[in-house]
Amino acid sequence: MPCGVKLELEKEPSLKNRIITIPAPKKLSAPKMFAPLRKKAGPAKILGAARMAGIVDELDGEPLAEKLERFAAAQTAELIAVCFDEDPKTSAAQAVLRENADQVLAGLELAAQACGVRNRKIAAASREEVNRVRKDCPGAAFLVAGARYPAVALLQRKLADQGGKAGLIGAQACAALTAAADRGLAQSETVVTVAGDGASNWVNCRVRIGTPLRDVLAAGKPVPGTAAVAVGSSVNGRCVTDLSEPVTAVTRCVIAIKRLPRRPALPCVGCGRCERACPRGIIPWLILQQLETGSPNPFRLFNVERCIRCQACSIVCPSQIPLAAAVERAEKIKEGRSDP
Ligand code: SF4
Ligand code: SF4
Repeated sequence: MPCGVKLELEKEPSLKNRIITIPAPKKLSAPKMFAPLRKKAGPAKILGAARMAGIVDELDGEPLAEKLERFAAAQTAELIAVCFDEDPKTSAAQAVLRENADQVLAGLELAAQACGVRNRKIAAASREEVNRVRKDCPGAAFLVAGARYPAVALLQRKLADQGGKAGLIGAQACAALTAAADRGLAQSETVVTVAGDGASNWVNCRVRIGTPLRDVLAAGKPVPGTAAVAVGSSVNGRCVTDLSEPVTAVTRCVIAIKRLPRRPALPCVGCGRCERACPRGIIPWLILQQLETGSPNPFRLFNVERCIRCQACSIVCPSQIPLAAAVERAEKIKEGRSDP
């Protein structure tokens, strides 16, 4: 059974204060409005509202209406609102659950109705988090995600092993669906965590989609000499070089990095940690061995196409081997997109 990796969580600095709102840049137009839904609207109307509102699920960038239609077609048995952040420095989903639990729960109910799912649950970061928000979510069922990284993939694996067909949607997509149904509001904002050792003020910001990353970073009061800014995750996010890049619905965090890590790799010691950490059943050390032959056999690059680039294997490796990059390279070789 894959167990992921235990990372030191650094969420409290950004959770200690309420979400702040960053004023929208003047050049962005006002959010679109349309007619709210009537009470007891059916699945087609709810899907229509999700489509009109242009809601994109922050978990994976999939348009919410398409995702719910897919769940309906697959006869998904359970719908889960992901109200935790697997990245150790990001707390945006947790902050949204703390401050807008009723909106998240109402959106989950609407989403479940839209795809004909009877069972729904809120997945929270911990038991303490469940106890904290329970009073704001009367009648809701909860599950605890677990503290190991990557928590979303591990949760999916656990649910699949239990034989249930579960569908996951993001906390912010749920809240956006409530706003669309109740107020006829298009999705126009998102909550983003600003953190990292290059930020002196870790904070969750409510920000208009389209706002330049520069404005969001400024809320974190970056320290002079910050070397890099990563977006998406402090573990496997991507470095941005152009801070005029706009915030999108999937921007979960902006991480200011003071010093880029330099990690000289040592030889594999055969500990097997990478294999145990991988939530996708890949054996990274075996892939590495194949690559090191210089002429890897594509038929021996087992399961590399299942990699989600979570970096768990690289993090646990005591020899600091960049295994995730090796698996990515192996996938390209297997698909014929790269020479060995
Ligand atoms: S990066 Fe890929 S190979 Fe490594 S643990 Fe994640 S899914 Fe597995
Ligand atoms: S974690 Fe690193 S050292 Fe251990 S088996 Fe995997 S590649 Fe080898």
